[in-house]
Amino acid sequence: MSNHKNIVVLGAGESGVGAAILAQKEGFNVFVSELGTIAEEYRAILEEKKIAYEEGKHSIERILEQSNLVIKSPGIPGHVALIQQLKAKAIPVIDELEFASRYTQATIVGITGSNGKTTTTRLLHHILEVAGFDVGIAGNIGFSLAKQVAEKDRAYYVVEVSSFQLDNMTTFNPRIAILLNITPDHLDRYEYQLEKYIASKFRIVQNKEAEQVFIYNSDDANIQYGWTHFYNGNTTGICEVSMRALEQDSELFRVPQIGFEMPKGALALKGRHNYFNMQCAVLAAHELGVEQAAIKKALSSFENEPHRLESVITLNEIEFINDSKATNVDAVFYALEAMTKPVVWIAGGVDKGNDYARLLDLVQEKVRAIVCLGKDNTRIQEAFEGKHEIIVEARSVEEAIKIATLYAESGDAVLLSPACASFDLFKNYIDRGNKFKAVLRQQHKIMTEGIQVSLNIDFKQNPVDRKSDD
Ligand code: ADP
Repeated sequence: MSNHKNIVVLGAGESGVGAAILAQKEGFNVFVSELGTIAEEYRAILEEKKIAYEEGKHSIERILEQSNLVIKSPGIPGHVALIQQLKAKAIPVIDELEFASRYTQATIVGITGSNGKTTTTRLLHHILEVAGFDVGIAGNIGFSLAKQVAEKDRAYYVVEVSSFQLDNMTTFNPRIAILLNITPDHLDRYEYQLEKYIASKFRIVQNKEAEQVFIYNSDDANIQYGWTHFYNGNTTGICEVSMRALEQDSELFRVPQIGFEMPKGALALKGRHNYFNMQCAVLAAHELGVEQAAIKKALSSFENEPHRLESVITLNEIEFINDSKATNVDAVFYALEAMTKPVVWIAGGVDKGNDYARLLDLVQEKVRAIVCLGKDNTRIQEAFEGKHEIIVEARSVEEAIKIATLYAESGDAVLLSPACASFDLFKNYIDRGNKFKAVLRQQHKIMTEGIQVSLNIDFKQNPVDRKSDD
């Protein structure tokens, strides 16, 4: 690596600035180039550390002339002209996770999949913390691995890895790799070829490690395809986890491979998808030597991130659940499956070419009414027309909640689980979930205090501010 004297970092967000800090610490000449504007907190770091940067442009000549190695933000697709030019000049282009992993001796667990990455990453991190490990959390979850390696290296890292990050990985080599599932998502980055997306996910186990263990979902047809076509048999340990085999009706949560069991009532997370995520996390923790008592404690005390099957409030005996992070059909499938009462389902937004057929049985079984919350609801309406009696349109969260309340009966749930991205009416899924919660809290205030309160929230339709995680 010593021949890589000059590093150019493309993108000055969390991962780019983290990479720049580590590169500087390792003695490289660093130049950061950001096409947009740099957020104040990151600019302050670059200034303080006297790292050279530019914003509002990429100085193509300087980048092509002066870089021996380029670290790019996962948000920049490989097909853009600059990346192609770099490749044509045989300048290696890698990702921050790849770069960071070259400078730490830590034991890394890499977690990827289409759904459940954040939950499983946070869960495993929590288990290891409860067990007293010196462990960091990093990757797509929003914390730079490179920054942690540079400033406070750890003995263990649990790293959430997206397929965009995997695309440029060559030596990243987690001790434990978890592949949760592969469902069509982000296909625009893979020339609309599912096969390419599957191939990307299998890069998580492309490199041989002395004792690498591969934990994966053995029921998933796309993973089975990848196993046949893209898995090179490098791992020494294989651990299959079957989602189908999870006993829905049992009172006990079990991880049969290691004889682990505890009452479902004591778990912080519910729903079959979460039992599966927990199985994967428990198996990884066990592999790292965590005792079952610590695992049990951690599974009870875990607090998930908001916007994932988050029970917000119960008003007039109707429970409102915020699952705004469910931006694809598969996530909605498991949300509906987890519902134990009749549901008024709020769905819609920017459709990513969804196939709603997978939801039909669950919708007919559990959904009392469908409230479409999007600018253009044609696709979702067409999918359920003639198959469900009540399909109503709403143009704002307030309207959606009003309509949902009209159709919901006491004892029901109102579930915001959109199956779509949010950019038509909101900044991102967080904005969508927060507005849902704010309107509900306002309703609650009105009901309890009988007064109108100001929300201080701008409910005008927000301009499109595209983020890659939706
Ligand atoms: P990611 O980081 O991969 O987007 P999250 O943990 O943030 O995953 O969850 C995203 C959405 O997917 C949430 O709506 C959640 O309820 C749902 N989900 C979580 N785990 C799974 C799973 N194993 N399979 C399908 N859906 C899941």
